[in-house]
Amino acid sequence: MSRVAFVTGGGRGIGAATARRIAREGIAVVVADRDLDAARVVAADIGGLAVRVDVSDSAAVDAAVARAVEWGGGLHLACNNAGVTGTRAELADYPDDVFWRVQRVNVGGVLACMRAQLPHLLAAGGGAIVNTASGAGLGGVARSAAYVASKHAIVGLTKTAAVEYATRGVRVNAVAPGLVRTGLVQGLDDFTAAHPIGRAAEPEEVAEAVWWLLDDRSSFVTGAVLPVDGGLLAAVPGLS
Ligand code: ADP
Repeated sequence: MSRVAFVTGGGRGIGAATARRIAREGIAVVVADRDLDAARVVAADIGGLAVRVDVSDSAAVDAAVARAVEWGGGLHLACNNAGVTGTRAELADYPDDVFWRVQRVNVGGVLACMRAQLPHLLAAGGGAIVNTASGAGLGGVARSAAYVASKHAIVGLTKTAAVEYATRGVRVNAVAPGLVRTGLVQGLDDFTAAHPIGRAAEPEEVAEAVWWLLDDRSSFVTGAVLPVDGGLLAAVPGLS
């Protein structure tokens, strides 16, 4: 029986590229997204299962993971990638409702997903999880308090889970992309110049890093946050 992977936000962008990359390994992929039509397009291409889920609803996440396990006969790998950006506003003006909505989706979603997935990974004898953080999970970005706070929290959840499960055969890591050519970064083209490589990433370039962290080739890597950012975080501002 093939191994099974669960990818949230799998309908487009990094999640879709990741679902396609994992499927190339002969792994059965569950494409989970709140946009079921988008998930269906990807799932149809790779012979996977599309499920509708809003990751901010933990009961819905439990149901989606249960359905994935029923479909595939178990769960071995997960990429928790669904996310939203929120409004751009200075901190002193940051709207409470938007702030907490972003935390519910980005932070609550990663927590709910890992909580639902981990028992199944343990039951399978081990596995791996990769969460999508961001360069904004490692440094501040003006006018982006909600997103930055949420991505820092994803780094914290990733490290905590890595430590808790390290002796139980489950590795937990994160990727920290810079600009990626997907929906979330439309209108941020001016930031491209901050990337020493001089362009935004293709979603496939992030997916390749996610796959490496999921695969046994990274067997001694856990609790890591891997920048996939064209040198963005390596650059000294003003001198680069
Ligand atoms: P990225 O740059 O991270 O790939 P995109 O906007 O292209 O960003 O993709 C984000 C994906 O996450 C979309 O397919 C979107 O439907 C999905 N998504 C956003 N919020 C939720 C949510 N609450 N539950 C499930 N999926 C979500």
